Amino acid sequence: MTKPNMNYADLKDSYLFFGIAQKVKKYSEENPDKKILRLGIGDVSLPLCKTVISALTEGVNDQAEKSSFHGYMPECGAPFLRTTIADFYRKRGVDIADDEVFVSSGASDELGDILDLFDKKNSALVIEPAYPAYVDANIIAGRKIIHMSSSIENGFTPEPDEKKKADVIYICSPNNPTGAVFTKEKLKKWVDFANKHGSIILFDAAYEAFIEDENIPHSIFEIDGAKTCAIEICSLSKTAGFTGTRLGYTVIPKALLRKGMSFNAMWVRNRTTKTNGVSYIIQKGGAAVFTEQGQKEIKENIAYYKENAKILMRVLNECEIKYTGGKNAPYIWLKCPFGLGSWEFFDLLLNKIQVVGTPGEGFGSCDEGYFRFSTFGSREDTLNAANKLKELLVKI
Ligand code: PLP
Repeated sequence: MTKPNMNYADLKDSYLFFGIAQKVKKYSEENPDKKILRLGIGDVSLPLCKTVISALTEGVNDQAEKSSFHGYMPECGAPFLRTTIADFYRKRGVDIADDEVFVSSGASDELGDILDLFDKKNSALVIEPAYPAYVDANIIAGRKIIHMSSSIENGFTPEPDEKKKADVIYICSPNNPTGAVFTKEKLKKWVDFANKHGSIILFDAAYEAFIEDENIPHSIFEIDGAKTCAIEICSLSKTAGFTGTRLGYTVIPKALLRKGMSFNAMWVRNRTTKTNGVSYIIQKGGAAVFTEQGQKEIKENIAYYKENAKILMRVLNECEIKYTGGKNAPYIWLKCPFGLGSWEFFDLLLNKIQVVGTPGEGFGSCDEGYFRFSTFGSREDTLNAANKLKELLVKI
């Protein structure tokens, strides 16, 4: 009889988003006249910018002519896009070669696939609260997971701990869900720790475009020593609204070696075996993000989400509620007021003011009673939610 991968039985049900959807559905059925204000979503609400749409259209038209038609694309990415992305790094002072950049269909796909590079017996360190896929992808692979909880005291950016050594270390900055960012000094400590123990850091930079503080690194490769201990995974999903269009990129330095094996060479071998490349049309659209005009337009969209963040942060400040994020990230992670647990706060917001956020419990071990607001919603919903939230918190 076929033996299934029994590790799937160890996965916890994704009760978080299911639980939220169930509660919202029930409330809406019982209160059909009430409009739900959604501050829970991790998806963007603004469309792709004009420059990207023109490039995508051009890509479609190219496919209509024999002279410009593209069949299978190179598995590791179209040379034009690999060069464009490497140039983007180089302009920021990070010296990355074109063939150290791999084009992907998005960070989520890549975070799962990249685990092929690691032995099943490797352990994985996850700093929590965390994006749930880090834990789940390693459970599926049967790896030992070392959980490291962070707290508001260390700004949700803990330092390495000699008692928590691991082969693979996940760092997400700016962070989902906490919105916290690692400073250069803190990242340097992790890079030194990884080099000392021979670990590899998987650096998730999906939200780098939201960083506004000048001294916060956008890439782990801004840190000395990172090329011998890190892989960076990035995405255009939040940067440029590609959540439904799908494009990302991964940087694997050629200096990343263990036991005589090159991770860059292994990934080339992996991609040439397991993919037939990313769609030409989408890569054409992705390249437009990195043009001067593309950068200007995506920044306008990011500014819109940042204004949403300011609206919410103003209310939290006025009500003296502790939070992280909002400034360098599209998420705000707040301490639930009045000693409420995160589901209790969820119920309060849904039932009293029809605002939907995300209870912190779904992101792994951390202190009880945290809650995530996303700033990706519409301005109208965000403004209404902020006003209602203020009224509610003042009243209680
Ligand atoms: N990494 C983090 C931290 C995320 O929050 C997300 C999506 O929400 C992803 C990766 C996945 O992004 P993508 O849309 O590129 O798969």
